[in-house]
Amino acid sequence: MTGLPSRYSLISQVESHIQSKKVARDDAPFVFVFFDLDRFKNINDALGHRIGDQFLEALCHRLQASLAQNQIFARFGGDEFVLFLPDIADLDEASDLCLRTLDLMREPTEVAGYSLSCGASFGLARYPDHGTTIDALIQAADTAMYHIKSLGSGGCAIFEASMSSERFSQLELEQELREALNQGDFTAFFQPIVDLASGEIVGVEALARWRHRRLGLLDPSAFLIVAEQAGLVPDIDALVQKSALDCAARWRSLGHDLAVSINCSSAQIEHAEFPQEIDTLCKEADFPVECLQIELTEQALVRQIERAAVSIQALRDKGVKVAIDDFGMGYSSLSYLRQLPVDVLKIDQTFIQEIQTDSDARAGVSLADAIIAMAKGLGLSVIAEGVERRAQLAYLSQQGCDQAQGYLFGEPCDEKEMLSVLAQGDFRDILDATAPQMRRR
Ligand code: C2E
Ligand code: MG
Ligand code: MG
Repeated sequence: MTGLPSRYSLISQVESHIQSKKVARDDAPFVFVFFDLDRFKNINDALGHRIGDQFLEALCHRLQASLAQNQIFARFGGDEFVLFLPDIADLDEASDLCLRTLDLMREPTEVAGYSLSCGASFGLARYPDHGTTIDALIQAADTAMYHIKSLGSGGCAIFEASMSSERFSQLELEQELREALNQGDFTAFFQPIVDLASGEIVGVEALARWRHRRLGLLDPSAFLIVAEQAGLVPDIDALVQKSALDCAARWRSLGHDLAVSINCSSAQIEHAEFPQEIDTLCKEADFPVECLQIELTEQALVRQIERAAVSIQALRDKGVKVAIDDFGMGYSSLSYLRQLPVDVLKIDQTFIQEIQTDSDARAGVSLADAIIAMAKGLGLSVIAEGVERRAQLAYLSQQGCDQAQGYLFGEPCDEKEMLSVLAQGDFRDILDATAPQMRRR
C-alpha cells in the first residue's frame, strides 16, 4: 500500500551492506533509525482505517521524496518505520534529517476533506559502535525510540547504553504488575470528601495502591504509566473498584451511609459492557448503585467521546453519578461539557494551590472561582481537590464550592484508618474555625 520496502527486504539489504563492509574491512559508520508515528491510532480510531491508510500513503510518498537515492525508507509493520542511512556517519547529521522528516509529518495532509498530521518518535543507532549486526542495530534504535517515547514529547534520541537498563526495568515492572494482578496485590485507599455546608463526610474517593512485596506501598505515580502502556489499567481498576465497594458495604452495615467515588480509565468507559459490569459489581458487593460516583478525566473522555457519552448515559440511567476529574487540566474544551451528561466537576488541585494566603483569597485571584461559577451556571456540583490550607477552605466556602477533599481533612488511608476517621464524626470544628459565617448560609 505504501509502496515502501517491507521488513524482510530491509533486513536483507542491511545484512548484505554489513556483509560487504566486513569483506572490504570497511569500518566507516552508518546510521540506522527506527521510528513510529504518534497519534496515528487516533486517526484510525476516529476516521476509520480507509482514511488512515490514505493518510499513511500520502505521508510515505512525501517522506520518500525528501530522501537521497541511496537512503532506504522501509515500513517495519503497523505504524513502525525504518530509515537506513548508509551515507551518513555523523549522528548529529542524522538527527537533523530526522527532525526535518518530523517537520514534514507535522505539515497538514489533505485526505478526504480532512486536514491530518501526526508526530513521530525517532530512535537512532550507529554501526558499528551501537551494534554490528542487524538485530543489534534494530534493538539499539528501538530502545532509543522507546526512551524518547516514554518522555512523551516525540522527537529523536540517540542510543545510549543506560537506556537498555531503563527499558529493562520497565519490562521488569510490567512483569511484576502482571504477577501482582494475579495475586490481587492492588487495593483501595480512601480519602474523605467533606460537605462544606455541614462539615459532614459525605463520601470517600477510592485511590489505587499497590502493596508491593519488596517495595511496600506504591501509589499510582509509580505504576500507572507502565500499566497503561501494557494495557493493564482496566484489570487494576476492576480490583481496586471491587475492594472499594466491599469496604464501603461494610461501613454501611455499621451505619455510615457514604457515597463512594471510583476512578475509571478511558479503556473502561469506552467498553460497551462497562455500565453492566458496574451494576453487577454493586450487586455483588451489596452496595446501592445510587451511592456510586465515577470519576473520569477530560483526557479519558475526549479519546472517544461518543462511546464515552453512551456509557455515561447508561450509568446515569442506573443512578450512578458521573464526575469530571482534574477539571481544567486537560483539553479544556468547554463544548464537551454540553455533550456529556455529567453531574459533578472536580477542580484540579493546581487551581486550589494557587490560593496561598488569606489575602490571595480575599483578592479572589483563583481560577477556581471561575470554575465554580461555571459549574453553578450549568447546574453541576463542584468538589475541590487538594485542599491543604485553611485559607483555601475559607475561600472555597465563600465562593459556594459544595464539597472538598485534601490533606486538611485527611490523607488517603486504608479501610481500618478510614473507619476510625468515620467514627470521629464530622469536620465541623475545622469549618467553624475557618469560615464560621459560611456555615450559616
Ligand atoms: P485523582 O483522582 O485526582 O486523585 C487525587 C490525588 O491527589 C491522589 O493521589 C491523592 O492522594 C492526592 N491528594 C489528595 N489530597 C491532596 C492534597 O491535599 N495535596 C496533595 N498534594 N495531593 C493530594 P494518588 O492517590 O497518588 O492518585 C493519583 C492519580 O492516580 C489520581 O488522581 C487518579 O487520576 C489516578 N488513580 C488513582 N486511583 C486510580 C484507579 O483506581 N484507577 C485509575 N484508572 N486511576 C487511578
Ligand atoms: Mg480522582
Ligand atoms: Mg483529581
